[in-house]
Parts: sequence; C-alpha cells; structure tokens
Amino acid sequence: MKTRRFPVWLSLSLGIVLSLGLSGCVSSTTPGAVGVQRSQLMLVSAGQVSQMAETAFREQNTQAASKGTFVRSGPELDRLKRIANRLIAQTRVYRDDTAQWAWQVVLIDEPVINATCYPGGKITFYTGIIRQLRLTDGEIAAIMGHEIAHALREHGREKISQSMLQQTLAGVAVAVAPDKQREVALANQAATILVQLPYSRHMELEADKMGIELMARAGFDPREAVSMQRKLMAASQGGRTPEFLSTHPAGERRMQDLNELLPLVIPLYERTRQENAAAAAVPRG
Ligand SMILES: [Zn+2]
Repeated sequence: MKTRRFPVWLSLSLGIVLSLGLSGCVSSTTPGAVGVQRSQLMLVSAGQVSQMAETAFREQNTQAASKGTFVRSGPELDRLKRIANRLIAQTRVYRDDTAQWAWQVVLIDEPVINATCYPGGKITFYTGIIRQLRLTDGEIAAIMGHEIAHALREHGREKISQSMLQQTLAGVAVAVAPDKQREVALANQAATILVQLPYSRHMELEADKMGIELMARAGFDPREAVSMQRKLMAASQGGRTPEFLSTHPAGERRMQDLNELLPLVIPLYERTRQENAAAAAVPRG
C-alpha cells in the first residue's frame, strides 16, 4: 500500500527543483558497439519517473482487464515473454542495473498497432501489431528492442524533464484531491507525455541503434529490423496511420539508417548463433 503523498517536486517551481540539485547532464548508458553517446538533461530522479510509470502501467492494465482485453496466459503471451527474456539478458551491455529492474511483459488483445516500454522495463504489446503485421519473432524483437532501448536511455525521464522546463507538467499536484485520485491523475499526465508525445529524432535514432544491437546480441537476425520497417510503411499506406507510426515515422531514411548499422551488428548476431549452436551440440547427460 502506498501511503506516501505523490511527489512534492511537481508543486515546486522549477527554480527550487534546480536548486535542490535534481538537475544534471548525464548519459544513462555505455555506448555499446553502435556508439550511442549523448549528454542528457535530467530534472527528475529515475526513481520518481519509475514510480509514475508504474502507476500509469497499472492503470493501463486495470483498464484493459475491465474491458476483458488483458491477456493472462496463452501461446502469444508466452512467445512475447520468451523474446523479452532473450533481449533483457543483453541489456547489461548498456547499463549494469537492469538485473534489478522489475521487468514485466503484458499483452493486450486490442486491434491496435502499437507497442511500448515504460521506464523501468514495463513492456506492453497489442495483439493488433503482432497479428495485422504478421510479425516474425525477429520483427517482434526489433520493435521490442527499440522500445527497451528508449527505457535504457531513459528517454521518458528526458521527456518529462523537458515538459518540466516548459512547465506543462505542474498543475496536478496542487489540485485538492484525495491522494489516490491525485496519483492517478498525475500518472495519466505522465503517461500522455511518455507514450503520446513523440520522441525527438535524436532519441529515435538512439533507440534504433541500441535496439538493433540488442536484438543481434540476443541472436535475432538484425536484417529483420529492416523488414519490420517495410511492414510498418506498408501498413501506413492503407489510409489510417497506425498508432506506432504516429510516434515512430517509418520511411526510406530510417530503413537506410538501419541498413547502415548492419555491418556493425551482424557479427554480434553471428557470434551468438555460433555460441547457441555449440551449446546445442554438447551432448546432454
Ligand atoms: Zn521510438
């Protein structure tokens, strides 16, 4: 049970927040083989962002459960979990704290072409994206790797920091409301920023780079990141823009960027494949 009031920091002016020393320019990850390196402005702690993300994630799941679309078991969910476990095992390449993250994978049975990973490792897939795009395991790994990379790079924390700078995330904490209501309202606001507000072009490129490295290290053919983009582009030609595309524009440029990364990550994929083959060849018992 939470008894603590929701973050006081939101009701503070930015000046006070800055003077408390919560700001900082850091890079949240090591560069990896693809060389992701950029200093990030962070005005909130990772713990505060994780707490908001957890509340938003719980709300999302509660709403899905009330609609009867929250998938509790079955082969599709098992498939997602298997893919997630392989990717999560590789995240330590970029940061050493992910073994302590409370990773979760959920599947929502709605015809939505979308997938997300909240800060702290809360992964959501919709059956719509898997079924309508007929995704292979490698293509699911490409999308999931990309979303995990946003979490590893703490892009959500960066977006919230930017919203604080623009003072668009400040009203809720001062509203008079019971704590629980306030917490949910704040989480909804955070969820809007985390999920609906597009990432910058820099962040997208970082997530593409880190995501393709993660999938390659996990033994998924990184060329499937390119075929996944092609499917997304095809899906957007039917007139309706899939939800995923409203925040992740697909295009020739993006496919070209991914293609250029292949020489860096295919050797990682080949190495993992050889290791897996060697492990499978060892007689058991
Ligand atoms: Zn993205």
